[in-house]
Amino acid sequence: MTPDTLKDLVRTVPDFPEPGIQFRDITTLVGNGPGLAATVNHLARMARDAGAEAIAGMEARGFIFGAAAAVELELPFIPVRKPGKLPVATIGVDYALEYGTDRLEIDPTSITDDQRVVIVDDLIATGGTAQAAVQLLRMAGGTVDDALFVIDLPDLGGARALHDAGVTVSALMQFE
Ligand code: 5GP
Repeated sequence: MTPDTLKDLVRTVPDFPEPGIQFRDITTLVGNGPGLAATVNHLARMARDAGAEAIAGMEARGFIFGAAAAVELELPFIPVRKPGKLPVATIGVDYALEYGTDRLEIDPTSITDDQRVVIVDDLIATGGTAQAAVQLLRMAGGTVDDALFVIDLPDLGGARALHDAGVTVSALMQFE
């Protein structure tokens, strides 16, 4: 299945989570077996081409695609978690949302020094989440040069911001 065909499997939900937002919902994409397999296959190929030694995915939707791509490549998966979830000493990064802040945490022992870590998430919008993940994985000693997304919303500038932080950004599809 081509990325163009996969794009037709993404459902757009108007006014979620608030009025005026067009939410791109991947529930319908992962609910289609061949669509899910093709999406993971594309991401795994891109991660392999980027020389991935580990895949990091952001909770929660990044777990779906990131872990599946890691399985396909037989690579380690690094869960980038919401705060307070890990039962061990963590390192974390706070980042700004449109209203308020959020935080991502990892177990720093899940990365070896200079390990080439490729980030996978479902969608990049402003890039705040991905930038925090890059910062965190680099703090833990990882080499983070590539980030892969199923969906890019280019109008929100996240891919550009990530590129400015020295990360090559690739996405299977874009929604204007
Ligand atoms: P950013 O930090 O780039 O502004 O937002 C990206 C994060 O928010 C991703 O982790 C993604 O899961 C979530 N997100 C924001 N907007 C959407 C959307 O329209 N659809 C989906 N599936 N996720 C979104």
